[in-house]
This record gives sequence, C-alpha cells and structure tokens, in this order.
Amino acid sequence: MNFGLNGMDCQGTERNWEADWRADKPREECGVFGVRGSDLDVSRITYYGLYALQHRGQESAGIAVSDGDTIKLHKNMGLVPEVFKEHHLDSLTGCMAIGHVRYSTTGASLAINAQPLVFRYAKGMLAVAHNGNLTNARELRTALANTGSIFQSTIDTEVLVNLIARYCGNSIEEAIMKLMIDVKGSYSLVVMSEDKLIGVRDPYGNRPLCLGRLEEAYVIASETCALDTVGAEFIRDIEPGEIVVVDDRGITSIRAQNSKKRTCIFEYIYFARPDSVIDGYNVNWCRRQMGRQLAREYQVDVDLVMSVPDSGTAAAKGYAEERGLPFEDGLMKNRYIGRTFIQPSQSMREIAVRLKLNPIKSVVEGKRIVLVDDSIVRGTTSSKIVKMLRDAGAREIHLCISSPPVIGSCYYGIDTSDPEELIACKMTHEEIEGHIGVDSLHHLSREGLLNVFGEGRPGFCTACFDNDYPIEIPADLRKHALD
Ligand code: SF4
Repeated sequence: MNFGLNGMDCQGTERNWEADWRADKPREECGVFGVRGSDLDVSRITYYGLYALQHRGQESAGIAVSDGDTIKLHKNMGLVPEVFKEHHLDSLTGCMAIGHVRYSTTGASLAINAQPLVFRYAKGMLAVAHNGNLTNARELRTALANTGSIFQSTIDTEVLVNLIARYCGNSIEEAIMKLMIDVKGSYSLVVMSEDKLIGVRDPYGNRPLCLGRLEEAYVIASETCALDTVGAEFIRDIEPGEIVVVDDRGITSIRAQNSKKRTCIFEYIYFARPDSVIDGYNVNWCRRQMGRQLAREYQVDVDLVMSVPDSGTAAAKGYAEERGLPFEDGLMKNRYIGRTFIQPSQSMREIAVRLKLNPIKSVVEGKRIVLVDDSIVRGTTSSKIVKMLRDAGAREIHLCISSPPVIGSCYYGIDTSDPEELIACKMTHEEIEGHIGVDSLHHLSREGLLNVFGEGRPGFCTACFDNDYPIEIPADLRKHALD
C-alpha cells in the first residue's frame, strides 16, 4: 500500500489528472512469469509473457536469465517495451528466465525496487519475483536487520530473499518451506536458481498463479493470458500452499501448507484480463454474470445500457442481455494515450478528461441510460463522466456498479486508497448519488457477487467489501506503509 503517498506521486508532487483517474480504481499489483526449457529463446518468451501481463503493473519491468552457471538481469522503470530493446534481449541468453512487471504496493516507485531481485548466497545465485504483499514484512525486516541482514531496497520481497538465504541449509525447496511458516500475507512467487524454476502460491491463494507447458518446457505465470500469448498449453492452477519445482527431472509438487483458499475476488471484477481463466472461472464470463445479477437486483425504466470502457463493458453487456435492452457504445475511449503525453495544465483539465473519454452525442442525447462500471473507489472520475454525459444531452443516468461498495483498504497487494479516501466510507448512499450527479446509483450486493460463482464456489477474499480480512492485519500496517 502506498500509505502516505495518496494525493502525491512518488516524487512528492501534486497528483496530475491521469493519476487522479487511476486512483479512482483499485490499482493493479504485479505480474510474474517464468519459463524453463532448453533450445528456447527464454528472454524473448519472458518478454512476450510480461507484455501479456502489462495490465498488472506499468511502473517497472525486469527479466533475469540463468545459463546454468550464472544469472543475468536487466530491469528498469517503464513499460515492458520501454525497458527492453533488442540488444537487452540478445544479451540475456540462457535456459531459464523469470520476469516481473510492477506497480508499487510497498516501497517507493524507484528502479532499485524493480524486480526480479537477484542475489548471491551460500549456495549460489537466486532470482525472485513477487506478486502480493506481506503483512508481517515490517516485523520480519526488523528481526532480520537486528541479526545482521542488510537491505538494499524498501520492498517486502527482500525479506523473502533474506529468509531464503538464512534457511538455505539443505535445499532451496526446504528454505522456501521454512519461509512459508514465517511469512504472512499474500504472495505468488517465481524463484529461479541456476538450475531450478520454482512457483509458490501462498496458503490462501490470494493472487493467481498457473502452470503451463510449451513443448518440452514449462511456464509459470500470474494469468493464463500470458500462457496463451507465448503458445503454452495450460496445465493447471498452482494450488494455495503449493510449491512447484521445475528441474531436469520435470515437475515436483510440494504441498508445503494447508490450503485456506481466499482468492482475491477483485481479480474477477477488475484486475485480471478478461481472457484469463483463474481457478476454473473465465474472467470475462464472470463479469458478464455480474452484470446479469446486477440486472436481476436493480431494474429501472431506461432506453439503453452503456459502459464505462473498458472495464465496465462485459458487465454492461450482461446487464443488457438479462433485461433485453440495447447495449450501446456511448463513450469513446482514446486508446493511444501513453504515459509520456504532455500533462494538461489545471486550466485545461476539461480537455484532459475528454482526451481520455468522449461521449457519442447521437447515442446519448435525450436518452435514459443505465451506465455500468466495475467499481467506485473515490468517486472523482465517476462524477466527471456523468457530467460529460449530461453535457451531451443524456436525460437520465442510472449508475450501476458490478461490485459492492468499497469500504475497506486492501493490505494484500492492491492499492485501494486509505479508508478516509473511500467515497463509500465518507458518504451515505444518497450523498454519493448527489456527489456523482446521477439519478440513481446501485451496487451489486455481496451475496449477488458470490452467487456468480455458483454453489460449489471456492473461498474468496472480499475484505474490501466487508472488512472480513482472511489474513490478520497488524495494527501498524493499517496506517503505515513499510517505508
Ligand atoms: S481486500 Fe479486496 S482487493 Fe484486497 S485481496 Fe481482498 S478482495 Fe482483493
């Protein structure tokens, strides 16, 4: 979590409109990828795998490659294609690679905090890439530092690295099993020694992690969309509490901890790519069902259904299907806004908003609209979008959200803002309607959300909707980031 940074960027400057826009959604965490197999261009496969996972983190990217003797690394701030040029990939040759894309949930957004982390220890070299957030990192870090450990970065992943180094007595697998007893929180890891690729999912399976096969090689990735992209065949999800080791003998599975499955339900609502399948559920299908459930819960007399693109689109189509209403593209999204465009000044903010989204007047003018979005965190962009639609002549706007109100912060690797910034914590339902400027507002119920997954559904973390945190949150973490 970026406690203390809200309202400011990592350099301490006032947040620009793009940051405002992004802050009105829970922000993605990280994506991890690994591949092991001979006669493959492992660095380019990892590059394409990371490209497919770019939606999980846009601040930094890195690839570490092992040639069997040593591990080479390139990482930097930026998007995958900004960080890696041909000559970087040409120099990263080997038989195994891991990669990482990052959005900073602990530690500042600095190159030193980019992953993978590569280090030497008593048994050789290791590389580690982590998706998630350790809830007892501060406590472990203090204990490690007091007994001689030195830290180079401010990220919780370095705690994992130090624990592996401490527990390295017999094997890397044994070190990871011991580490899993000590650490609490959320972690999906890919770990690489000179000769082994290892995937680890925490006992709650909070973040996704899956295993695939690419000819004779094995691939581990945060989401199946990365397997699809590199042409790998999905084998299975890595189970909560499981360690999967890929070496010369093939695959070995170690059930290191009992599973208490509580996968993040927000992966299905917003984070994961629609073409991914997590624990047997296709993300796009889930979003469509959320929209259908929303329609069963809330019906209002309207002319058409439209979405806030793109994250609200699948649910909007589901809502329209269930009600037999037309779905229309009423908001045009500019897909070519990069991170490097010139930020508009304060006086040009209206232009900035329209640069990102613009209503199609002929679609919305004089119409009564159900507008579907996936979530509201702070409510700042929702009100701007509603104003745009009003200016374009919309007669009525009924905002339907395909998730329950966000009333709790996430401590497991998602930046959902501090509780005092969450609009559902600050205002009543009626006040939010007035603030956003809609004729009505409806959120999908928690029960309705869970019903999407059917009777035999797995356990989910729904803590940001009900404050029922499956993994204990230390009091100090509730108010402060690690650094
Ligand atoms: S608190 Fe919310 S965002 Fe965080 S893991 Fe749980 S469901 Fe996901």
